[in-house]
Amino acid sequence: VVLLRFAPSPTGALHLGGLRTALYNHLYARRLGGKWILRIEDTDATRAVPGAVDGIRSALEWAGLEYDYGPGVGGPHAPYYQSERLDLYHTYAHKLLDSGHAYRCFCSADTLAATRERLARTGSNATYDKACLNLTEEEVMRRVRAGHKHVVRLNDSNLPNRPAQADLIFGHVKDAHASLPTDPVLLKSDLFPTYHLASVSDDHEMGITHVLRGEEWLPSLPLHLDLYAALNLKPPHFAHLPLMLNRDGSKMSKRKGDVQVLDYQRRGWEPIAVLNWLALAGWGTAASPSHTGAAESDTPPPIPVPSKKAKKAAPDSTAVMTLNELIHNFDLSSLTHRRTVLDPNKLEYLNKHHLMRIAETDEGLTALAEKVHDVVKAAFPTSPYTNVAYIKDVISALEGRIVNIRDLPIYGAYFFLEPYFQGDEAIKMRKRLDDVEYRTVLESLIQRLSLEDSTKWSEDTIRQLLQDEESKVGLKQKTFMSVLRHALTGSSAGPSVATIMKILGQDRIKERLKTALA
Ligand code: GLU
Repeated sequence: VVLLRFAPSPTGALHLGGLRTALYNHLYARRLGGKWILRIEDTDATRAVPGAVDGIRSALEWAGLEYDYGPGVGGPHAPYYQSERLDLYHTYAHKLLDSGHAYRCFCSADTLAATRERLARTGSNATYDKACLNLTEEEVMRRVRAGHKHVVRLNDSNLPNRPAQADLIFGHVKDAHASLPTDPVLLKSDLFPTYHLASVSDDHEMGITHVLRGEEWLPSLPLHLDLYAALNLKPPHFAHLPLMLNRDGSKMSKRKGDVQVLDYQRRGWEPIAVLNWLALAGWGTAASPSHTGAAESDTPPPIPVPSKKAKKAAPDSTAVMTLNELIHNFDLSSLTHRRTVLDPNKLEYLNKHHLMRIAETDEGLTALAEKVHDVVKAAFPTSPYTNVAYIKDVISALEGRIVNIRDLPIYGAYFFLEPYFQGDEAIKMRKRLDDVEYRTVLESLIQRLSLEDSTKWSEDTIRQLLQDEESKVGLKQKTFMSVLRHALTGSSAGPSVATIMKILGQDRIKERLKTALA
């Protein structure tokens, strides 16, 4: 059985990078019929932010990523907060002390700083001189009994040989021992574990089969493998997910704009579009920047949905996929270690196409209308046309044009308010239309509408009516429609005139035509 874990530290709001890690854990677990755990790595009290766990959980909920075990859900590996698992880390630390793979270090911060300086002066890479390794057993016990503060360090001198293990994404990683601190601390003097000890102990105890986490933890991999070897435990498989970059190749950071999941939630992006965007950033055939090179962006081509036939092939970098489709298509082996670019244009593209898919069902359409209801009411406080049923019709009409549902008031203002003829667009449009033709079209339609039975009003009958009118006044279709579009919307683009008329209804149409004539 496959068991994965997403193990955030509650040091703040969930970022896109964290969401991507959670997503890949979800996709991989589901793809292989396995489960995943949410584990809270809260052993560094100095960095903990109150409310962060709730924030992380609600971001995962918004995204629709349901963990199988963890806070609020429970499960066979509880507790899921590391701060409640301290005994376990002490047990593991003791195992290492007993086997000689760890030792107690009593050096003060000042001593350590002086040692580091001395070592650096001699040109050594070492960060510690292992002084406490030379203390006798009796001396160590005496100091422990006397309550001297100390840490537990890994003893990297006599580590058992370990078989080479390749990262599932980065392949064989050059042994980076030189970049690790000498004899890293495993247990701090406050008896809290460091990340390394806690992570290895928990991954083993919980029976984690695959560790999927961010590239920033790749340098820790040799140390973790050492710990497994020293503890005589079989390590899980590791897959490190490449760093995500902005389009200009810079690292994503708070200063550079939206990085928090909450920003995307507030901005109205569809959660599935965000997941789709994150998933494709790391896989697919899109050219992405090389690991060391500068980033290059890949703007989406105009072709949307993946063809049914091509389902099994690697999805291209803009394939519009539901969560189930993402799971179905997910393949760890198609991920590369190249850094991935998060292109905001691609999110817009995916969001627009997901909106179209969501709006295909009445349920989806209702959910969208409900989501944007407050935004519409706030944008048009005096409009009597802001109920959910009406908004559903407007969304359907504008489908394929709306990038973000929260922008509905911008795309469809004329559905809620009377057209604004004083605007640049309306004025320019009107100037292109001949006065006599303009009046003829509107007057004829007003007359025709007075004879119409509004109960038999469907888009088809409207289309027929418009065709009749068009031949009656003898104008080119383009001109005829432009006149009506101007009079009804004051806008040069939008859904078909028949669709607009169906939504507005006869009374509002007549009113608008009269206003346009006045
Ligand atoms: N607690 C680490 C973090 O916040 C998780 C590292 C891991 O998954 O091993 O990123």
